Amino acid sequence: MIEFTKYNWSKIIMHVDMNAFFASIEQRDFIYLRNKPVAITNGLKGSCIITCSYEARAFGIKTGMRFIDAKKLCPKLIRRSSRPNHYAKISAEIMKVLKNISPDIEIFSVDEAFLDLTRYQKIYFSPFHVAYLIKHIIYNQFGLTCSIGISDNKSTAKFASKLKKPNGITLIKPQDAEKILSNYPVTELCGVAKGVKEFLKYHGVLKCKDMKKIPISILGNRFGNIGKKIWMMAQGKDIDSLNLISKSPKSIGHGKVTKPNTQDDYEIRYILYRMSEKVAARMRSHNYESNKFFIGIKIQTGWISDYFKTKTYINNGKNIFDLCISLLNTIKIKYGVFQVQVTAVNPKACNTQKDLFDDVIHQRILDSTIDKLNEKFGRLVVIPARLNTYQESPDVISPSWRPSGHRKSL
Ligand SMILES: [Mg+2]
Repeated sequence: MIEFTKYNWSKIIMHVDMNAFFASIEQRDFIYLRNKPVAITNGLKGSCIITCSYEARAFGIKTGMRFIDAKKLCPKLIRRSSRPNHYAKISAEIMKVLKNISPDIEIFSVDEAFLDLTRYQKIYFSPFHVAYLIKHIIYNQFGLTCSIGISDNKSTAKFASKLKKPNGITLIKPQDAEKILSNYPVTELCGVAKGVKEFLKYHGVLKCKDMKKIPISILGNRFGNIGKKIWMMAQGKDIDSLNLISKSPKSIGHGKVTKPNTQDDYEIRYILYRMSEKVAARMRSHNYESNKFFIGIKIQTGWISDYFKTKTYINNGKNIFDLCISLLNTIKIKYGVFQVQVTAVNPKACNTQKDLFDDVIHQRILDSTIDKLNEKFGRLVVIPARLNTYQESPDVISPSWRPSGHRKSL
């Protein structure tokens, strides 16, 4: 194993890519699916395959293929309904692990991340050591495997992680990158979609080595900076650094469709309190707080809603519920409720330093203890007494949730 000190690279970038992520989770959770061809679809009626296990890939089954067509290739193909919330939760936990390895991280999608190890060379012995460490933790803690690519830039590292799948580690030295890439089709590069591919083909560029034959300006004029970037990437260069700031989500909210025309004041308050607790718990689990909240209730004629600002940043359910009460108190007419919404607007990362001198610190300690208990024993074993009789029913899934990334929604 070569020590970090022997690397004279400008940067050390690692790409971690989970292997057949959704399908592997299904195989992990259900023993009967192991070593079997499994395809994940959107519900049991979804016609297209979102992803599939390696056993299914061996039959030529690919993402995007229609399930009926895939079944012709592999009659024993098992269909599993996608569980996006479950995958997102596991993804978030894995990303937390990676963030502990290197805080310089870019979460690229639900199952991929880039780590910049440049600043941590003194902590770790070698990039291989880091790669094995990551694989060890991910396998032991989550029962899942990943492929890892290492190079001096994002594009080459991402390309490298694809070379050994599943469960591989590939290091491409900067000086070898151009040669290794040369005979691969340009479509192997991240970002070369159909439009770019056709354009390059027109200019005689099929393989990465062909790229040198055309001037960078041709791509620059047609596709701007992305075009120039692709021209560089084909030669194993990429000037892009990591998109480090994993931006806070624009909002964290919970909504619920109530029984139509709910008139019972107690029940309305009850649901609002429940939503407030849920928003607060989710903010705390991601270490966020906010000083602006949107509270809304939908009546027959539309939404009655308002934004509320708090003096300090909060993430406590009772405090959020107080804002709901403020809204209810402003409504004088008799109404029936159809839906409620509680949303924290522009949450930001908690300022824990400040908390040490904050008089709400006791509340925070209590909240975090309750969160730990709820996490340990399943959802919401410890809740405010007045939520005790609550009957669990499905909440509205945020329409902003996408299986492709964390940043859009938490
Ligand atoms: Mg993957």
